Amino acid sequence: MSRLRQILWFSLRPMVQLWERWIESCQVYGRPHRPKLSGDYMYIQSPTLPLWRSLRAQGQINPDYLLSLFSVHFPPVDVHGIARQLGVIVHHVSNPGWSGAVSSTDTRAEVWLAVGDRPVRERFTLAHELGHLFLHPLGVAYRDAHYEPGTSTIEAQANNFAASLLMPDWMVRVAMQSTGGDVQRLARLFDVSESAMKYRLVNLGLR
Ligand SMILES: [Zn+2]
Repeated sequence: MSRLRQILWFSLRPMVQLWERWIESCQVYGRPHRPKLSGDYMYIQSPTLPLWRSLRAQGQINPDYLLSLFSVHFPPVDVHGIARQLGVIVHHVSNPGWSGAVSSTDTRAEVWLAVGDRPVRERFTLAHELGHLFLHPLGVAYRDAHYEPGTSTIEAQANNFAASLLMPDWMVRVAMQSTGGDVQRLARLFDVSESAMKYRLVNLGLR
């Protein structure tokens, strides 16, 4: 391959992959399938607190609530965009020896992600850290190695939050039908690792 072709290939490939995923998403999801969820979806945004803190204070800690709030209808769920809209500050750090960490005060939340992790892993780690932020005591720093099922209760809860945010039950069930349950295709569609998708399918009783 000529040098020019190589440069073109490597610079255009991410765009082509995004395009392919978008096409696939449109094929699978012809129309929005997000269900109307019961319960109170109102919240009051405090003028002094970041959005994540307002939601947490009002008990709005369900991943489906966040998807509803940010009008997410299709995979892949833009977890970085959600973190930004929630007012969570995200940093990247080189060679920290772990994959992610979160720390919070009553009014400020910061997440650190390891540089060089695969994008699918980074997405899951960020969703996992958001789980700690919504579900667990503030003022405590959480530091995470790589995603592993069956760790402590707190870690399992954060993993479950992440899985529900990135692979919502209602999205996965629709995608199952149109992909025939092909894990590779589902993982690509949701922009998650194949192991995370397999684990999610087992948890949802779909495999
Ligand atoms: Zn954790």
